[in-house]
Amino acid sequence: MPEPEATIPDSSGRPVGDAPLEGFVIAIDGPSGSGKSSVSKQVARTLGYGFLDTGAMYRALTWWCLERAVDLTDESAVLAAALDFPLVIGTDPDDPSVTVDGTDVAGAIRDPKISTQVSKVAVVVPVREVLRDLQRRLITAASAAAGGVVAEGRDITTVVAPDASVRVLLTASEQARLSRRSRELHGADHADAVAATRSQIVDRDRADATVSQFTVAADGVTTIDTSDLDFDGSVAAVLQVVEAALS
Ligand code: C5P
Repeated sequence: MPEPEATIPDSSGRPVGDAPLEGFVIAIDGPSGSGKSSVSKQVARTLGYGFLDTGAMYRALTWWCLERAVDLTDESAVLAAALDFPLVIGTDPDDPSVTVDGTDVAGAIRDPKISTQVSKVAVVVPVREVLRDLQRRLITAASAAAGGVVAEGRDITTVVAPDASVRVLLTASEQARLSRRSRELHGADHADAVAATRSQIVDRDRADATVSQFTVAADGVTTIDTSDLDFDGSVAAVLQVVEAALS
């Protein structure tokens, strides 16, 4: 599959990304640990579509700010970094590459240091507008290249792509989300591991919820509760919603 990539151009005269989305767009939102990233990637693979991980974009911007010693509490400085953000992000679900200023940051952006700081960048509203514009352009490019795209995040169904063909909110009980993320991070979900994971999940979602609504589905958005579903069951549930929309 050709891999559309996009960079953020210079900040002057940036068009607002309100051109209609093109192609078949599946928007998936959800809180941490809902399984949205892995499920979305697999849905994209199954359908032969592109895949856009918008959380990776916020993480990469956080990495870029830290790299340049930007004070994350200084909103103007964070916005300036967003407007001069040399991001290249791939949309192939089998190779979701993320490069900033020529450095491959795909691994570095998963570091707990980034996870604990990313919300500081994500709550800056003008930064969200800059990334929304880029995300809409990436969605349209990926969809044009692959015949469709799955875009996942926190505000895709509501703000970035409310005009998507299919909109899904993946939820799961707090207990299920903590236990999943704890197994990912610590290889176990006993009480100590869950306690160590709690701040990464609960605190981050609390901060993120001040700027995005991702716990209750907006009108027209289908909720899928994955608490009692395994990975394959979650993928199948999303594909069922897609098939219903296609038919
Ligand atoms: O999905 P992931 O956990 O990688 O997202 C990292 C962070 O990026 C979130 O905690 C949130 O702060 C931010 N984010 C966002 N809007 C999105 C996607 C992610 O604010 N659409």
